[in-house]
Amino acid sequence: MGCQLIDGRAIAGQLHAETSRRVAQLRRDVGLVPGLAVVLVGEDPASISYVRAKEKKAVELGLGSWIHRMPAATSQEELLATVDQLNRDPAVHGILIQSPLPGRLDERAVLDVLSPQKDVDGFHPVNLGRTALADPGALRPCTPAGILELLRRSGIVTRGRHAVLLGRSRIVGLPLSLLLMQKEPFGADATLTVCHSRSVDLAGIARQADILISAVGKPNMVTGDMVRPGAVVVDVGVNRVADPAAKSGYRLVGDVDFPAVSKVAGWLTPVPGGVGPMTIAMLMANTVQACLQQLGLAAPATRG
Ligand code: NDP
Repeated sequence: MGCQLIDGRAIAGQLHAETSRRVAQLRRDVGLVPGLAVVLVGEDPASISYVRAKEKKAVELGLGSWIHRMPAATSQEELLATVDQLNRDPAVHGILIQSPLPGRLDERAVLDVLSPQKDVDGFHPVNLGRTALADPGALRPCTPAGILELLRRSGIVTRGRHAVLLGRSRIVGLPLSLLLMQKEPFGADATLTVCHSRSVDLAGIARQADILISAVGKPNMVTGDMVRPGAVVVDVGVNRVADPAAKSGYRLVGDVDFPAVSKVAGWLTPVPGGVGPMTIAMLMANTVQACLQQLGLAAPATRG
């Protein structure tokens, strides 16, 4: 049996169509447009292109969309004041602070002042806590939630299967570990092993995986001999490698040695076109969910 590619673009397209329908319905029934504000500090080229892509998609789906561009020299106080103003703006239902912030700025302190109800990235401690509690009202971090959707909509059974996750970062690995082990339908009901830079015998552990997910950020980290024949392999990594043939001088690759792993795996996400499109799709879905919750039209997070 050959390896099947998991088409993140197509699945993200399904989600976008659903989001677009919900936006149109809100506009029609309540006369309201969900709004997403993105705060971009500095001139990091990758961040600029990510923010543009988010704005383009938000506009396509009929969402209100604003980018707050702030110079690299922005002070912590100025940034906190902008977040506070967006917290209080009733037209803004979702706020995203584009990461990474210039090194001097304290990202954790910015997250702490962000309203958890508008935290569509799902990184506020309250939303991470709600995600840990499997609260259906949680705004879940976009990349981990997108990976679950990708598996589900591809018809891949996760319940009871052994998932091995490489990476434990605050943005991807940690929240994804919560979703993978939690009960369905909130989580994946998988049996989970998490590996990181201190793990011993990574290859041996990876070979035990029914579902192997790499969120490390190193090209060719996952080689063919680390994959059990027929396993599902999800490549979260996005890495720039030099490519003189490309106009930009580089190309994007994942963590997985694609030619070798595609000969062994049963299912595999490509880079680009796998997990990446799902992250944006979940961001847009979270913005609509945040709007519905703020209007009292969707189940809020559980209290107590
Ligand atoms: P981080 O650098 O924050 O975390 C990397 C993780 O990998 C850490 O937990 C680290 O371990 C672990 N690690 C590093 N080296 C090894 C090793 N040799 N063996 C095992 N584990 C190792 O990265 P992020 O989580 O932010 O991102 C990971 C990748 O995912 C990046 O390529 C990023 O670009 C991509 N990404 C893609 C997104 C998408 O939408 N497709 C969204 C977000 C990220 P330790 O904790 O011990 O340091």
